[in-house]
Amino acid sequence: MKARDRRLLDELERALARGSGLRLAYQPKVATDDGRLVRVEALVRWTHKELGPVPPTAFVPLAEEHGLIDQLTQWVLRTGLRQWREWQREGLETSLAVNISAVSLEHLDFPDLVERLCRALGMPTDRLVLELTEGATQPLIKLMDTLTRFRIKGVGLAVDDFGTGYSGLIQLRRLPFTEIKIDRQFVTDLPHSRDDAVIVRSVVELAHGLGLQVTAEGVETVEQLAILRRLGCDLVQGYLLAQPLEAKELVPWASRHKRRWKLLVRPPEDPH
Ligand code: C2E
Ligand code: MG
Ligand code: MG
Ligand code: MG
Repeated sequence: MKARDRRLLDELERALARGSGLRLAYQPKVATDDGRLVRVEALVRWTHKELGPVPPTAFVPLAEEHGLIDQLTQWVLRTGLRQWREWQREGLETSLAVNISAVSLEHLDFPDLVERLCRALGMPTDRLVLELTEGATQPLIKLMDTLTRFRIKGVGLAVDDFGTGYSGLIQLRRLPFTEIKIDRQFVTDLPHSRDDAVIVRSVVELAHGLGLQVTAEGVETVEQLAILRRLGCDLVQGYLLAQPLEAKELVPWASRHKRRWKLLVRPPEDPH
């Protein structure tokens, strides 16, 4: 292991033990039909005293490889669920999405643990969605048993970064998913790329045929939003709607967003 990785890992272990330096950012997902807030995705953030901010893409894979991922996942779940309850008290209705590493799903008792956590914090299990990205080595089908246990308990399951991993929709139909998140790479070049529009359209059609909800991630422009609405995506997420926010920013964001949505979906003005 490289010296820097070793250091990151040691420091992460310390941060998890003390709960210091770690926090969650929250990024809204909104419905394309009326812009309402449907879900908030928790994204882990780590700021180290000396190293500064360390991106999750740098430390999550390390945690996965070196046995820290379950601890990290549990910290994220506990923190996210507590925050959800706080919003609930403030009158903000939303469900919560949490990114889960496939490694954590290898434990068959993980669904029970999550259910107990939900019960302890008063969150109905159907308000929770787990986002899973396919690992380079592990197709999601291997996790069938754990995924099924989650579905029986009512927890939602989303395929994250769809289009980058193993599964086509054909394999997915055998898995108990409830949502597909189309990877940002298929969104970025809309509306110029005909190919990407065709891909998005067919993913939406097939997903809807299988009864799955479709989210587009990485939406940055009003033009992309217009196309994604036309192609029938159910939910959108991205910097156009909101950057990942601090917990306390969400309620003020939600009231600003209600007014702003009308402007975002206004038809372009006729130049003549
Ligand atoms: P992801 O779950 O696909 O999350 C989307 C990433 O894209 C986030 O980066 C988010 O900040 C960023 N993003 C959102 N909207 C836009 C946009 O409009 N444009 C662009 N360019 N980027 C956008 P982040 O927070 O750095 O997370 C990166 C990845 O790290 C996540 O991808 C997820 O796979 C992983 N991750 C984050 N938090 C956790 C966690 O708590 N547990 C686990 N296991 N993985 C996590
Ligand atoms: Mg995600
Ligand atoms: Mg994603
Ligand atoms: Mg992604």
